[in-house]
Amino acid sequence: MLRTLLLALACLPALAQEPAFILERREIAAPSALPAASLKLRLSLALLEDAGWEAERVLDAVREAIAVLAQCDIALEGAELVRIRAPVRYHDFLTPLSRRLAAAVPLARPAIWFVRDTGQRPAFDAEAIGRSNSRTRPELADTVWVTRGTRDLGIAIAHELAHVLMDSGEHSDEPDNLMREETAPGSTQLSPAQCRRMQDTARENGLLR
Ligand SMILES: [Zn+2]
Repeated sequence: MLRTLLLALACLPALAQEPAFILERREIAAPSALPAASLKLRLSLALLEDAGWEAERVLDAVREAIAVLAQCDIALEGAELVRIRAPVRYHDFLTPLSRRLAAAVPLARPAIWFVRDTGQRPAFDAEAIGRSNSRTRPELADTVWVTRGTRDLGIAIAHELAHVLMDSGEHSDEPDNLMREETAPGSTQLSPAQCRRMQDTARENGLLR
């Protein structure tokens, strides 16, 4: 017992340390003039330094994702690109560590974290955490975690963002639907009902305005 306590005390300074710090915050302007009727989305894009992501690749993929969400009358108002330095153990998505990382680097939501890999089992290339699946991990609410191995990156980001905006893990069997379980280059459609759900839920949750 005493030994456990001493060990716990010895660990305190390390736990108290911030796991990460911000190297750079860069404002990314909206791509062009926004249609007046559109719902506005603002994103935080978190890039872990030395985790294998280039800002240009991220921005290209986010533009592609936003072009997909435009069918629901959603437009990007702007984004903040945040470069973060963190120890290597935080470079993969793993709930207990990623919670600490997200708590150490408070970002406006929705936030997309670009990570190296995942330590989660089952291992998904990309994961979305909304409100309803974050009750035991509130630091991760309204975040998307994208690993380097993610295929069809722009479409995958649109798919995961749609999960967050709809606060739903539901998938669709409709051909060409964005929310098919397996993302694919041709699967970019959203139904009017999916768009309505996305618009209504995201507005209620303060993720669209
Ligand atoms: Zn999905």
